[in-house]
Amino acid sequence: MNIFFDVDFTLVGLDLTLRPGTHDTMQKLLADGHKIYIWSGVGIRWPEVREHNLTPYVTDCYVKPLDHFEEKLSQMNLPAPPDLVIDDYPEVPTALGGFWVRPYFFYSSNDNELEVLYGLITEVAQTGRSDNRRYKPRPAKGLFQ
Ligand SMILES: [Mg+2]
Repeated sequence: MNIFFDVDFTLVGLDLTLRPGTHDTMQKLLADGHKIYIWSGVGIRWPEVREHNLTPYVTDCYVKPLDHFEEKLSQMNLPAPPDLVIDDYPEVPTALGGFWVRPYFFYSSNDNELEVLYGLITEVAQTGRSDNRRYKPRPAKGLFQ
């Protein structure tokens, strides 16, 4: 699957730390055959990807639409449209299909959100769905269906 991660408060905190488990989760997703993309509403985030040594995992970076998600996504002509979006802002997975994650603001060694997410992504990859309430399937009338 093409998995699109948001940056701010999904992977990077307000304190600019990288969320615990990011490297481990990305390594496992790649090993499982997924592709990882980074997108953000505030721009192309290669500088942050490099700063946190995520370059080996990331196929490409894009600008994320902030509204009219399906319409704007279709105008982006992405070589690989998202199969799953991961975002701390619920509107994005609700519109495009994916998982909402709890916002990450400050470093906490107890934050296991990405470990949980890996299990849920694996469930969707294997079964095509998840009953977890954080999961939203892509709407049936989406442009990419
Ligand atoms: Mg965010």
